Amino acid sequence: MSRVAAAETSMILGETISRVLSRVNALSDVGPGWTRPSYSDLESAAHVIIEDEARRLDLDVRRDAAGNLFARMQGSDPQAVPLYVGSHLDTVSQGGAYDGQAGVAAALALVAALRAEGIIPLMDIVVTVTRAEESVWFPVSYIGSRAALGRLDREELQAKRVDTGQSLADHMRRQGYDPEAVLDATPPAPARFLEFHIEQGPVLHGAGEPYAIVTAIRGGLRYRSASIHGVWAHSGAAPREGRADAVVALADLIMAMDRVWAEMLGEGADLTVTFGRVDAAGPAHAMAKVAGTLEFCLDMRSSDVAALDTADARLRAEIARIEAERPGIRFDLGRQSRSHPAALSAAMADLVERGAAMRGDRPRRMLSGGGHDAAAFAAAGWESVMVFIRNWDGSHCPEEGMDEADLVRAVEAVHAALVGGGGS
Ligand SMILES: [Zn+2]
Repeated sequence: MSRVAAAETSMILGETISRVLSRVNALSDVGPGWTRPSYSDLESAAHVIIEDEARRLDLDVRRDAAGNLFARMQGSDPQAVPLYVGSHLDTVSQGGAYDGQAGVAAALALVAALRAEGIIPLMDIVVTVTRAEESVWFPVSYIGSRAALGRLDREELQAKRVDTGQSLADHMRRQGYDPEAVLDATPPAPARFLEFHIEQGPVLHGAGEPYAIVTAIRGGLRYRSASIHGVWAHSGAAPREGRADAVVALADLIMAMDRVWAEMLGEGADLTVTFGRVDAAGPAHAMAKVAGTLEFCLDMRSSDVAALDTADARLRAEIARIEAERPGIRFDLGRQSRSHPAALSAAMADLVERGAAMRGDRPRRMLSGGGHDAAAFAAAGWESVMVFIRNWDGSHCPEEGMDEADLVRAVEAVHAALVGGGGS
């Protein structure tokens, strides 16, 4: 049995989570909320804090060529498959206090508790902090984790960061990393990956449940820079007949895709359809003008690749219809980008469930709507699982709320799974 009582373990988990969150969240660009762009000085500074925390726990700290951080607690059996536990520290612009950092704090807390208890699990536990998880900065999914896994390609290194216009390769170099070495690196042998993360949705908060086990992560099909070309005209002089109004064409497409979404849900498909940015407010647009151009983006997500393909085919059919019905209107979807849906590990889900049962919890199993590094690990053949923590007031926004006690409870479940006989 461990040297310290369960109450003390909870206290160590709580203190570590609080301290790490407040240290990391002291780092941000100007508010509101928290902004730590991918491959920025702020993201690097946050990684330094975790490195400092890891050294205090006497972990073996290593960074790979892309700047991902791995802090290893040696297990007792070198043959046991290592368990990587972690998340990311970059944020969207004006994001929240928990997306990413909660999972990193939880990983450190788990190891801190084991250290205090004098427990050495069978397998190595590797606190993992990825770089550049938030795909708002570069139009590439899961940059850090895919780099770690040997799955980032040369073309993706040339992707430009939206605010600086500099390439991913340049940003890596500026933070002291080596894009050429990223391409040549040998990835670690597939092991196990566990990510604690806020839900970023209303399900758990609405149901009054503190945490859940994630069984799959939705993939996405995106058009990040689509546009519509019509004909500029005077708002008072151009008759309704003969107008090629880009705003009306987009409205038509949005309503059509909302119907497609409802129909596909009715047929049992898993799908979300979101037009996240609609831009008819450039310098050429004005009150007295019929809009001759418009830019937009479209984000469709599903746990099923076939559903994404169907939605994409129906999108193109609707565009063809609108172009036929509205002469002068032409859509340009621009480049398509995709992230693949990922099924997570049933065995890992069972492991977390056993630990939860030991502390009297019965977490539900659910899908993740947002993309996460766990999807990249799963795609690379790792046994991966996520534990979602209840949150409220949205996510990717300054209001993003979470109770640290919920996170402590979820880490207790994983801790129980590891030390209570479920971790071999
Ligand atoms: Zn995240």
